[in-house]
Amino acid sequence: ARHFLARSQTAADLGAYLAMDEEATLAQARAADALLAAGNAPALAGVPIAHKDIFVTRDFATTAGSKMLADYRSPFDATVVRRLGVGAPGQTGGAGMVTLGKLNCDEFAMGSANENSAYGVVKNPWDTARVPGGSSGGSAAAVAARLTPAATGTDTGGSIRQPASFCGITGIKPTYGRASRYGMVAFASSLDQAGPMARTAEDCALLLSAMCGPDLDRDSTSLDVPAEDFTRGLSGDLTGLRIGLPTEFFGDGLDADVRAAIDAALAELRQLGATVVDISLPRTRLAIPVYYVLAAAEASSNLSRFDGVKFGFRAPDYTDLEDMYKKTRSQGFGDEVQRRIMTGTYVLSHGYYDAYYLQAQKVRRLIAQDFQQAFTQCDVIAGPVAPSVAWGLGAHGDDPLADYLADIYTLPASLAGLPGMSVPAGFGAAGMPVGLQLIGNYLQEGRLLNVAHRLQ
Ligand code: GLN
Repeated sequence: ARHFLARSQTAADLGAYLAMDEEATLAQARAADALLAAGNAPALAGVPIAHKDIFVTRDFATTAGSKMLADYRSPFDATVVRRLGVGAPGQTGGAGMVTLGKLNCDEFAMGSANENSAYGVVKNPWDTARVPGGSSGGSAAAVAARLTPAATGTDTGGSIRQPASFCGITGIKPTYGRASRYGMVAFASSLDQAGPMARTAEDCALLLSAMCGPDLDRDSTSLDVPAEDFTRGLSGDLTGLRIGLPTEFFGDGLDADVRAAIDAALAELRQLGATVVDISLPRTRLAIPVYYVLAAAEASSNLSRFDGVKFGFRAPDYTDLEDMYKKTRSQGFGDEVQRRIMTGTYVLSHGYYDAYYLQAQKVRRLIAQDFQQAFTQCDVIAGPVAPSVAWGLGAHGDDPLADYLADIYTLPASLAGLPGMSVPAGFGAAGMPVGLQLIGNYLQEGRLLNVAHRLQ
């Protein structure tokens, strides 16, 4: 822990870490030492980890990348944090990992480049003039720069997979409901999922095994599926595995350098015995409008709790209650968050609900059905994570659509609630990393991790 804390100080200009507290980290490290000394400690005991600042933590402030939660301190740990951690006094501990601190992210996880954080941009360690991806950009950058051996992330529409791809690390978003959302600051509740980000598929398998499991008392969408040891299938043979390539993921808009890296990874998988089949996900194009209607609708509802009354930021000067709400929310939320709240409120309003929200829900169902059709022809789906390598800081300027369009390959699996991951597949333009995306059917995380592990 001391090593990573010191190393992180020397790389502060990457902007990856937000809250750090050496005392709190070392207290957790002593608790992990006690677990180890007692014998029979879990496999991850004493291994440092850092958490995306969207997970609430007792020992560190939680901001969700927003001014709205500046200096907010939660009285409890998110379930995922608790399951990975050493446990608070008087509580049963988890995997015994030691928290190094909290990692920067886009405000309320809304973004694709980590340029929407109220606490500054994060830089890509491979080229500090480029973005690390988002919204889990701090997590990806910290793992890539070796400022932590592992991190948590969350993925609503690609926020684990895309930054993992941009920073050359491995990350997995499990099936919706596998990991508890309790204590994860909510963005779009029907899509939000936690997952690990680390160097290898093997590390991700260890972390995911500890993170998942039912939490029905605290998250009603938590799946009643027992925790699983995802390391067990890692050495599985790929002979006969059918890998489906969606035509729609390889069309116009995919950069040639990314395509070349993906093709090379697929050739390697063929050599390992897999067969490749062409499939179709015909509604891929619709995933962007569907996602940006539904995610905004859910965000507008979830973020209504930030009203300046119960917790968080309150505007200093106001005349009456309504003025306090208005000023608090105008000053506390950044531009992108306000854009989503307004879009979401609009699509949910009387007269537009049927045309936008309900319509998007119907197309979401069809997108999920397209995957089930595809999985009659293949076992795993593969393709790019993003159409390009990491772009330059500020390159998308004030054009939010440029960010939205880059989510095209990650959104479909999110809308369907399917597990998806990014595994390093080589390098594209300017020597920047490229990730291969693997998508599995429900609860097939083990299979994805096996394929990724064989590539490494
Ligand atoms: N880029 C997408 C968005 O801005 C996805 C973000 C996420 O997965 N949290 O909504």
